[in-house]
Amino acid sequence: MTPRHRLIVGNWKMHKTIPEARDFVARLAELLTPAPPDSMVEIVLAPPFTALAAVSTAIKSLPIGLSAQDMHWEDLGAFTGAVSPLMLKDLGCRYVIIGHSERRRDFGETDATVNKKVAAALRHGLRPILCIGETWDQRTNSQTEQVLSAQLTAALTGIEKDQAGDVVIAYEPVWAIGSDHPATAQQAHDAHRHIRARVTALWGQDAGERLVILYGGSVKPDNIGELLASREVNGALIGGACLDPLQFAKMLSIASSTT
Ligand code: PEP
Repeated sequence: MTPRHRLIVGNWKMHKTIPEARDFVARLAELLTPAPPDSMVEIVLAPPFTALAAVSTAIKSLPIGLSAQDMHWEDLGAFTGAVSPLMLKDLGCRYVIIGHSERRRDFGETDATVNKKVAAALRHGLRPILCIGETWDQRTNSQTEQVLSAQLTAALTGIEKDQAGDVVIAYEPVWAIGSDHPATAQQAHDAHRHIRARVTALWGQDAGERLVILYGGSVKPDNIGELLASREVNGALIGGACLDPLQFAKMLSIASSTT
């Protein structure tokens, strides 16, 4: 069997001060020291803006990448409180989470702003981790595929096929986030298949096959193995369970055993 690349992203949300962030990285480094996950598992941390610089320094000699949790689409300007792609690049970010459902719900993020952010990230060489997912109502009304298609189409409008390789999609059913009710492995598999089919229709077979699709929503050490068993699931976007270095290291180790 050919080994499969896995991308595991820890989204810290609004957690951890700078000293806490440094402690986390030091502890994770210790936990990874005797048996680091194999090189097919790519590890990325997404701390809050305030801890990005400290984490960037702390991970310098470690096989860990850096992501922001959001950004503005403009390079600079009168946008009080916002952070631009150039600033994230400055800090050493390679990834940026875009369109997380918490930002859509609480901060007025729309499909249109998500689209501008995806385009801006790619323009600056940042890999967007584009979050899409249906609500529970939409799922029970059999609208899951329709919602995923609409969110994808809107977010990827105007994005050229030659940028496809830098796009990461995170399937995050809204009802599964922070809920202790993850999607079943079958539900994740089906949604990922649909997303891949849509991307194949948009950018062609090769882009569809190469597309990295993460599952997010109550991923924990006791369910990550089952979720990653599907060939459609290329990794995980983890919230709550990534805050503890021991649990995060456990999930990395399980991810490693499923490559
Ligand atoms: C997330 O924040 O993207 C997420 C999936 O959160 P949780 O793992 O806590 O459900």
